[in-house]
Amino acid sequence: MAKHDWMIPQADAFVLANARIPACLSEGVELPPVDSELVACDLLVRNGNIADIAVPGQLGGAHPIVDCDRGMVLPRLVDLHTHLDKGHIWARHPNPDGTHWGARSSVMADREANWSVDDVRTRMEFSLRCAYAHGTSAIRTHIDSLGKQAAITWPLISEMRERWRGRIDIQAVALFPGDLPLIDAAQFKALVETVAKHHGILGGMTFLGSKPNERSNAALTALFKAAIANGLDLDFHVDESDAVEARSLAEIAGLVETTGFSGKVVAGHCCSLALAPPEEIAETVAKVADAGMSVVTLPMCNMYLMGRTPGKTPRWRGVTVLHEFAQAGVPVAIASDNTRDPFYAYGDLDMVEVYRESVRILQLDHTGPDWFRTVSTTPADVMGLSAHGRLRVNGPADMILLRARTFNEMVARPQSDRAVLVGGKAIDTTPPDYRELDALFERA
Ligand SMILES: [Zn+2]
Repeated sequence: MAKHDWMIPQADAFVLANARIPACLSEGVELPPVDSELVACDLLVRNGNIADIAVPGQLGGAHPIVDCDRGMVLPRLVDLHTHLDKGHIWARHPNPDGTHWGARSSVMADREANWSVDDVRTRMEFSLRCAYAHGTSAIRTHIDSLGKQAAITWPLISEMRERWRGRIDIQAVALFPGDLPLIDAAQFKALVETVAKHHGILGGMTFLGSKPNERSNAALTALFKAAIANGLDLDFHVDESDAVEARSLAEIAGLVETTGFSGKVVAGHCCSLALAPPEEIAETVAKVADAGMSVVTLPMCNMYLMGRTPGKTPRWRGVTVLHEFAQAGVPVAIASDNTRDPFYAYGDLDMVEVYRESVRILQLDHTGPDWFRTVSTTPADVMGLSAHGRLRVNGPADMILLRARTFNEMVARPQSDRAVLVGGKAIDTTPPDYRELDALFERA
């Protein structure tokens, strides 16, 4: 497809005329509806901010005009759950059989052999450049934090956060087996200190092969207590499995209540719940809602991993009960998860792709106009980033401009001809070339 020439002016002020924005993101402005999902408007960009949003035809004056010709304007999007430290190791360590266990052993082998400061930095930088080119403004990444890796990767997070300030806001979560507090209390204590020092979030993987029991409860209680003592939020990998024993989501919700935890708790994945009996789903969803937790689903990764048996056609989509959580008032988000590593062979940290695939995998079409919040305002709010994921007067002119005029046109094509504005300036939307990574794999 020939790239559209957007001709975004270099001027400090210009008007994006004849645009369409998601109705669920048009805060505080009365705008004429286009359909049930979009409203029409002009946007005045001035000195890097959105200076005004108005009914089409009411702005302009002396300013240069970009005619969007009914194209959609989106805020830059927010990716709540990624793994920047694992990204792009596929060429070095693919997944031998496409399963979750195959992914874990393959990543472990690659980590032990190759994850030096230089290696992780090069791959993280590459991933962030992909995300930036596609129009992402904030990313939360989980960080493998066992053993020697914590001391290698966590200082890099602080370095990258500084380096990318003003382009992408970066948050990081410690990832480790959830029973670490019981297995190695000293390592856990040191890790909590490292996380606090680098302004991180505490997490962990909660399902380790057995159903909730006294031991898992003791481990999770220790995690909650450490978070409380250090003022840290929590973000777990929850029940990423199809096993009937994978039932830690309700256990986590219960611990929010019993520990009196007042920080934010995010539950990622929650796959197995989708296979539970209806009464159990209803009960767990209600518990999560009561606990004030948020849920993030990772559809591309989990459709790749879940329900995979050699020689057998997959029977389910691997995603959690997102519609049911949304109906119960739980803040729900959708995110990338892994990119070109053993947990997910593909992906490019493109939230437009993530949304497009999610509409199809989760059947978000025909069911309500607010789903676009799952990649914009909701993850921004969960991350405490009130300026991100929205189009607001006096907010930053951080936007994705599409030729698509409706969500139907948007979901039908990859939107490779989009423009991305950061602080009112058009950026280069060319993602980095994979050849840049070749040297890493030749060294290995
Ligand atoms: Zn993950």
